[in-house]
Amino acid sequence: MNCFVCGKKKEDYEVWTNKIVIGATYNSDFQNNEIICNLLDKSVICHVCIKVIEKQVEKERNNHV
Ligand SMILES: [Zn+2]
Repeated sequence: MNCFVCGKKKEDYEVWTNKIVIGATYNSDFQNNEIICNLLDKSVICHVCIKVIEKQVEKERNNHV
């Protein structure tokens, strides 16, 4: 399977496969991220990209303060 964001081929243990799990793990700022919103039910996203989005969300939040 390939990561939805970076397009790299990843193994099962290297990806998040479930939007509900992502939703349960991360806050609403994260879930409202453009990339996360565009995830389809069948999309997978790798840990590296999750970290990148985490940083991005954090930065955006700080900019709004
Ligand atoms: Zn990725």
